[in-house]
Formats: sequence, structure tokens, C-alpha cells
Amino acid sequence: MSSIQYLKGIGPARAKLLERLDIFSVADLLHYYPRAYQDRRENPPNSGLNPPSLVICKGRVLRAQSIPARSVLIFKAFLSDGQNNQIECTWFKKRSFRNFRFDPFAQLKKDFKTNAQIWVIGRRENRNNFFDNKISVEEYYPVSAPESTWHAGRITPVYALTEGVSNKQLRQYMQEALHAAEVAQEPDILPPALAQKRRFLNSAQALRAIHFPNSLAELENARARLAYEEFLLLATAWGVKRTQTKTVAKGYTYQIKKNLLSPFRQSLGFEFTNSQKKVINEIFADLQSPLPMNRLLQGDVGSGKTLVALSAMLLAAENGYQSALMAPTEILAEQHYLTFQKILKKLKVPVAVLTSSTKTAERKKILAALADGSISIVVGTHALIQDDVQFKNLKLAVIDEQHRFGVRQRGKLKEKTARLDLLTMTATPIPRTLALALYGDLAVSTLTELPPGRRPIATQMADEYQARHIVAQEVQKGRQAYIVYPLIEESEKISAKAVSEEFEKLKALFPQYRLSMLHGQMSRSEKENVMKDFSAHKTDILVATPVIEVGIDVPNATIMVIQNAERFGLASLHQLRGRVGRGQYESRCILVAERQGSVARERLRVVCDTCDGFKIGEKDMQLRGPGEILGTRQSGELELKAADLFKDRNILQWAIEDRDELLQADPLLQKPEHAAFKKRLLQLYQQNWHLIDLN
Ligand code: ADP
Ligand code: MG
Repeated sequence: MSSIQYLKGIGPARAKLLERLDIFSVADLLHYYPRAYQDRRENPPNSGLNPPSLVICKGRVLRAQSIPARSVLIFKAFLSDGQNNQIECTWFKKRSFRNFRFDPFAQLKKDFKTNAQIWVIGRRENRNNFFDNKISVEEYYPVSAPESTWHAGRITPVYALTEGVSNKQLRQYMQEALHAAEVAQEPDILPPALAQKRRFLNSAQALRAIHFPNSLAELENARARLAYEEFLLLATAWGVKRTQTKTVAKGYTYQIKKNLLSPFRQSLGFEFTNSQKKVINEIFADLQSPLPMNRLLQGDVGSGKTLVALSAMLLAAENGYQSALMAPTEILAEQHYLTFQKILKKLKVPVAVLTSSTKTAERKKILAALADGSISIVVGTHALIQDDVQFKNLKLAVIDEQHRFGVRQRGKLKEKTARLDLLTMTATPIPRTLALALYGDLAVSTLTELPPGRRPIATQMADEYQARHIVAQEVQKGRQAYIVYPLIEESEKISAKAVSEEFEKLKALFPQYRLSMLHGQMSRSEKENVMKDFSAHKTDILVATPVIEVGIDVPNATIMVIQNAERFGLASLHQLRGRVGRGQYESRCILVAERQGSVARERLRVVCDTCDGFKIGEKDMQLRGPGEILGTRQSGELELKAADLFKDRNILQWAIEDRDELLQADPLLQKPEHAAFKKRLLQLYQQNWHLIDLN
């Protein structure tokens, strides 16, 4: 796969930025689909009856000049749009006294030469006056520059961004990548027989159209093709995995010795639920069998998955094997580490945590200990599957909150993945019928009960004022509370700032309580300290971004306030709610929502009405209708980017059918006409843990 840094206009520094978007190769970039689109087709100021709010027009420069004024510098350009409209564009700049020779309009003067053709995109200054053609320009592009056709006069893509990378830049990179791909004339990845059967757009057409559609109809065709492709790849990966799980003997066995498991159970201070016992038995049976385990553990939030995983990891330790648990976030990895450490200290089982913020010296020590086998249990983030992480004797891998992982977590596991015992855990299950069709006979265990004494978490909508009142009441009683704000504009940095501001306000409102704050921009040790203090009840109220969504476990916390609840997916709301109700106290979840349409209201009501994660999952899919499809995607769920499980049920059905046909004809994808498909399959799935090994 060609690395992104060799694409025209991108060097090592830009490549580093793009990595934050999970873009490592040109292929990754091409499959980085827009999160939305902006209609920037030509929309001159007096088109139609309603003056457009965003004016997009191509004009010829009549004249342009800078106008001297006292405190500001002004540049004005008059354009003719070819229909007898004269458009007046104005730019203001503060006068700089430090650098008075500097001409802030140098570029404008160069571009706005008389008779030059220019695209301008801007807002009408006087919104209410139909005849007033004064525009404050947001962007402009000389028609002679090729990039004008990417940014103006068309439907343009809008991407999820990261600090330092703009939409404009991404559009440019995307054009370069599309061009490079078209020049290279790579073969379509769909198996030819299937392409012929289904008659979708081909790869190149679909990729160009998903980024730069010429019409909405073309966009929908492209999306359907890419959705099909995603389903087919996913279904095939599971299909291959299924065959391999059934045929490749792992070549080692586990014996139940109980020298660790018995003291572990005694040290817990409570009994496993019947459900946990059943599931542990299923897992142990898999581990004792000669074939590798490939099991999905579903269990609602709070059902006690962690201890099930730890049981399996201790069985591995009893047999002298290493095991690793991979979590989607650092905070969650740390939390697991704390839980494990408490239990494992008594059993004298060495445990370590490895994330991307583990300090170099410590990391070195851990890597050495993993390589020589002196650490038997490790938890971490995807830092665990970097190239340089080597295990002496890794046999069992556990993936927590599997649905939270993106399409690919980078890095390779050195071991032959087909022979690892694999346990994936999730709290947001997909409907059973769908799971069966997609995964075939993938083994599924389900925790059907919560630990005893748990009461359902009463969930209600409330306004800001009521929410604060409830928080105060509970804190007064000695309980603790979470107040969560949504991620804003998909940027952790902006969200962190917003949360910091709210935090200051809340501190002023609750001067008598101890508040702390948690967000993604804090350093690992800061986060760790905040969590430790909250766990130890040194603070009363934790104000946070959704970084706390998964795994945090503080039994004394009884109130979860979710601000702007309408902006969260139902599954996220359910996950967040699961952070309370973890101890013996009655707990509540308060949804504070701003303006609500009827669908938003219905969505939130689902969460208020039931605490059953399975029901919420199904309802969520039903409620996510068309229209929302291209706008918001459930993050990482099922690893789908273009496809939508609900809207595209039919396409999924086709893909499952076609996968069976494909693997029947060519089980290991060895035929030359399947080479391109296989290559993409490996790009996507080989590097992940639940992956396949076709070599
Ligand atoms: P999840 O399934 O959401 O990952 P956890 O594994 O974090 O849930 O468990 C939630 C809480 O329930 C933890 O505090 C855990 O110690 C506790 N717990 C787990 N199993 C039992 C049990 N059988 N009896 C009582 N508490 C339990
Ligand atoms: Mg968990």
C-alpha cells in the first residue's frame, strides 16, 4: 500500500496529521468518506424568488481597488455575473502599525485583475434586501486555477477534521489521490462475476462520486456500491475466519488447574451470577478444545464482562500462557489495569498496562518482560499490536468493547492470528438474526442477567435547573455525580475548551462541592489522577466529555447528567447511563436536551423507557431513517463507513448471499480474478486481531 506521505502535496509532517484521522495510505484516504456534503452549485445572488443565504457565483472582474481609510484597510472588487448583476465584494483588514509596509491585499490584487473570471462564495451582507448585492466573501477561486472546480460550482464534500487539516486541503489531497488511482488503473476490487450480477458503479467511479458527486442521484449510487463492498468484505472476512477456526488446530491445550482460579473466586467477596458461570463454562470449553476459540461475548452494560474475561486470562496464566486485553481508549485500559492489579496482587500474577502514552523507559521494560514471559497478563490500547511488541507465549486475546474500534487499528501482531484464542466483548449487540447471517456459526455467549441488587436506572428528561437540583441533592447525601457534555464539531480540542468553560460555571454554581474535569486533551497522568480521586471520593462531581463513556466503574456515583442528550446516539446514551447504578444505591440518569423535534423526542423516550441494551440497539436502527445516513455515522460500530445496517438491509442480504457463492467457488480466494478483492480484504482485516490469515 503506498504511504500517504508520497502523495503530491503531502510530506512527512502532513502525513503525521492525517494519521490522526486513521489515514495512513492512499487507499485509506480514498476510503475516508465525507461526513456530509455542501451544495455549492452555482447560486447567484438573484436566482429564484428567495435570495440565497450562501451566494456562489462566477463573475468577471469589472474593477477592484484598495480604499484608504483610517483604522482599517478595505479592499473592494466589483464583479459582473454575466446576467447584468453587479456584485460588490468587500474585505476588511486591521491596519498593522508594527509592519506598515506589509500589504495584506497583495494576493487579492494579483487575483482580481480586471476581466479575470473568479468564483466567489460568500454571504449577503444585507440579508433582507433582495436587490442589495453586497457580498462578504468567504472563499474565492480564480476560474483559471484547476482547483476552482473542486471547491466551487458543485456539490462539495465535508469531512470530519482534525486540528491542522482543513476541508479545503482534504479536497485537494482527495483529488490527487483519485487522480493517482485513475492513472494507475487499478482493477475493480469486486469479483467480476459479482460485479456483473449486481451492476453497481465500478470502484473508480464510485470513489470519485462519493467525494465529488455530480448529482445527488450519482451520490446515492456510489454509496450503495460502497455499502455493498463493505458488507461483502466484512461478510467474507467472517466467512474465511469461520472456516479457519474450524480447521486449523491450535496445537496447545489448556488444563483447568484451579491454583489461580480458586483463590480468585474466593477473593471476590461475591458469587458469580448464574449467567457469568454459564458463560465462563462456554469459554473454558472452547479453550480446552483443540481448535482456536472465536467467541463473541455480549452483555449489557454492567453485566460483569470484565471478570469473565479475567477468568479466562487466569486460566491461561495457570497454564503458563500469556494473555492480553485490548481496550478502545486509554482511560478504559487504565481502569482495567487498576481492577486487575487489585485482584492479581493477591494472587501474585504479574500484570502490566501498555498504551501510547506509556513512557519510553517503562515501555522498554514492559516489552522486555512480555518477550521473556515474565508478565503473564497485559492490558492496553492498540499500542499492544505495534510491530515491536513481541510475546513469548501469547495464547489468548480479549478485545473489550469491540464495537468501539475503528475499521483498522494499526500495527501487526507477530503471532499467527489464526491460532490465537480470541474473545471479543461488546455491550451493543447487533440483532441476532443479522449476527447469525453475517457471522455464520460464530460462537456467541450472552450475559442475560445483571449482578444481584441492581435496580434499573430511572431515566428522565429534565431542564438544566432541575438537573442541578438533583445533583445537589445526591451529593448532599454523600453520593457522586457525572455531568457529561457532547463532543463538539468532532474536535477534542474545541470540546475540551467548551467543557472547561462549563466547568468554571459549574464551580461557581456549586462552590460547596469538589468538582473535577476530564477530557481527551489531558495528559495520561492528569486523567489518571482525576479518575483516582473520583474513585476514592476525593471529588464529588466529575465534569467530562464522552471519554468516560465506556468502562468507568465507581459504585458510589449515582447520578449521570447528560447535556445536549439529543446529540448522542442511543447506544452512547445507554453506555453513559451504565456508568451509574454500579453499587447498592438507587441511581438516576438525567437527559438534558435542547430543542427537540418529534424524532429526537422519540429517540430519547426509548432510553427513558427501557434499560435493555438489546431493545435500545434495535430501536436505534429503526429510528435512524434516511437523511441521517450521510450526516452521522455511528462511530466505528460494526466497522461500517458507507453502509447503514438498517437502511441497507437489502444490500446486506445480497452481500451475504454473494459471499457464500464466492467462498463456495474459491474458499481461500486463490483465483486470479479475486486477487484485487483479496488484497483489499487483507488491507482491512489482516492487521486487526479478529482477523484472517490467508497466506
Ligand atoms: P461490563 O459488563 O459493563 O463491562 P463490568 O465488568 O465493569 O461490567 O462490571 C460492573 C461491576 O459489577 C463491577 O464493579 C464488577 O466488579 C461488578 N460485578 C461483576 N460481577 C459481579 C457479581 N457476580 N456480583 C456482584 N458484582 C459484580
Ligand atoms: Mg466493560
